Amino acid sequence: MIIGALLTQNTTWKNVEKALANLRLNNQLSFSAISVSPLQELQKQIKPSGYFRQKSERLKALAIAFTDAGGISQLEQKTTSDLRKWFLALKGIGPETADSILLYAFKRPLFVIDAYTLRICKRHEWLPITANYNEAQNYFTRQLPADPTLFNEYHALLVQIGKNFCRPKSPLCEKCPLNHLRIDSTTKEDQQ
Ligand code: SF4
Repeated sequence: MIIGALLTQNTTWKNVEKALANLRLNNQLSFSAISVSPLQELQKQIKPSGYFRQKSERLKALAIAFTDAGGISQLEQKTTSDLRKWFLALKGIGPETADSILLYAFKRPLFVIDAYTLRICKRHEWLPITANYNEAQNYFTRQLPADPTLFNEYHALLVQIGKNFCRPKSPLCEKCPLNHLRIDSTTKEDQQ
């Protein structure tokens, strides 16, 4: 899951699955194997996920750091805040990747923000158009119980809405399950 979270940057999960299948087929789907794997070998296997030169370096750096830190059993001992800082200190791991790893692999209550979530929130004016990652995360965190299962499901549902209805151009509002929460021009006029 952690490997997938890094590989999914700037690509689709379908492409990540191909890269993961290659790693599995070559017995490289573990941090201990990746940490000693030659970069060229890694690049060949993760090629379907795109940006494979950059990702292979980052993946290897993560694998080395992970094994040096004692693996998941040692990292699990860290507080959520320290664990987040640990991942964010690694090259190529930003807030979305770090929070995805903490939520899905470590079951920590961190709400993951992605482009779909930001778009939906901004279109509904739940967040200002200038809102950044932290502001969006705070918006959800302060209104929901700190429950990793809930955050997981909630985020997955937002992703589905984003993929199926809230497209960057021509959103399918009329068919969208969140249409009743939309502030359209008619509603605004009614409120004035
Ligand atoms: S109703 Fe659905 S498609 Fe329309 S803006 Fe809201 S989330 Fe996007």
